[in-house]
Amino acid sequence: MSRKRISDKEIKLLCLQSGRVCAFPNCGKSLVQEGTALDDPVVTGEIAHIVAYEPGGPRGDPNFPEDERNKHTNLILLCGDHHKLIDSQLNTYSIPVLREMKKAHETRSSELNQSKSPETTASFIQDSLHSSLVAVSHLPAVVFSAPTDYSDRQENQVKEQICYPADPWELAPFLLKEGRLYTFHDLREAGNPFHLVTSNRDIQQIQTQTLWNSAEGKRRYQTLLNRALYKFTARLEIRYDPNHHRYFFPAGKEKKERSVLYRPLNQKQSKRKVAWPAKNKATGETKGFWIHFASALKFYEVAPLQWCLSLRPERHFTSDGSTPLPPKQIGRRATSIKARMYNDLYLGEVHFWRDYLSQGKPQILLNFGNQSAIIDTSQLLSFNIEWPGVIEDTKPFKNQVATHDLFSYGEYLQALEGEDSYYKDLDDEEDGHINDEE
Ligand SMILES: [Zn+2]
Repeated sequence: MSRKRISDKEIKLLCLQSGRVCAFPNCGKSLVQEGTALDDPVVTGEIAHIVAYEPGGPRGDPNFPEDERNKHTNLILLCGDHHKLIDSQLNTYSIPVLREMKKAHETRSSELNQSKSPETTASFIQDSLHSSLVAVSHLPAVVFSAPTDYSDRQENQVKEQICYPADPWELAPFLLKEGRLYTFHDLREAGNPFHLVTSNRDIQQIQTQTLWNSAEGKRRYQTLLNRALYKFTARLEIRYDPNHHRYFFPAGKEKKERSVLYRPLNQKQSKRKVAWPAKNKATGETKGFWIHFASALKFYEVAPLQWCLSLRPERHFTSDGSTPLPPKQIGRRATSIKARMYNDLYLGEVHFWRDYLSQGKPQILLNFGNQSAIIDTSQLLSFNIEWPGVIEDTKPFKNQVATHDLFSYGEYLQALEGEDSYYKDLDDEEDGHINDEE
């Protein structure tokens, strides 16, 4: 059976509706290459069938009317790579997924055509904006609180009384408010880190979701998370500068230049200089201050019940490898590097932070004994955008996916195991809620 030719009319309709770029989300590849002095322009786009023309072809469907199969409504214009991809991953790129992809792409194209003059249309590209955010995939389900004799301002006295867990990676963040101590640790357990400073008379167990219903509750939860991060980074020999709300790498031992190991994009482990004395390039003379890799690390609630960790690369300056320079001396040395750094370099540095903080694993695990917070560092969150730009100028940033090895997966499962009991409580509540709505 010979495959029937797609009519010129259908091809024209398809091309008009698709614009000149690949319909695959974020691809943005131009499907027309300009002519050169020696050659004509060439069309590199490929027409793919959503439902295959042949019933036995990719996504073939004998029930789909034959005369509909070569219509522009059943065709999608793609670059060669994405044509190959959709025809290879048939379960992922099913008929409904491709129809949705086509619809979204054609809507974008027509919106651009309607709102912009023809000259500006050509300069709009679709792009994927990689943020400096990683998703928090798991959070402690409850916060414990118990009465304490210490006032809100006596945190340092409390710290001296903490019985630190044997595992150095088990973190014990806490918060003092109105005569009570708040923590992720189970205060009912006899040997909990705070048993010397809390009373077991009135231990409360507050469900996270209940806490999040109030702005103050949310703030307390966020404080506990940020304090956990502070303790976690200290174990990686990263220090916090409270004046600038950022973390930085202090100098190495004996005030030596410091380098750390990490895994750069698409490469094996590599070394990166993270703290060094500034030098005059021509003379080699030191300039009297140090430059440090730094990052503003902060938890944010980006949508109801959805939290992210932001990793915003910065620079930190000190006089001697550890003492922050007074603001006046920093002067015009911008500490925010985003403004003067190319996108791919910036993302390279975001990647450095996510890799260093997770120590090459696909997650950062904040361990609170029976509970934990897990930050999924396997990918940076990305957003789809359209912006004016030159199509050929896009430098692809490969959002490298870190995968679990047996050890990190075991760690992940173990972290969740201890929390079953809290989740049972939570599940009961959720069930009740759903019933109410029905
Ligand atoms: Zn493509």
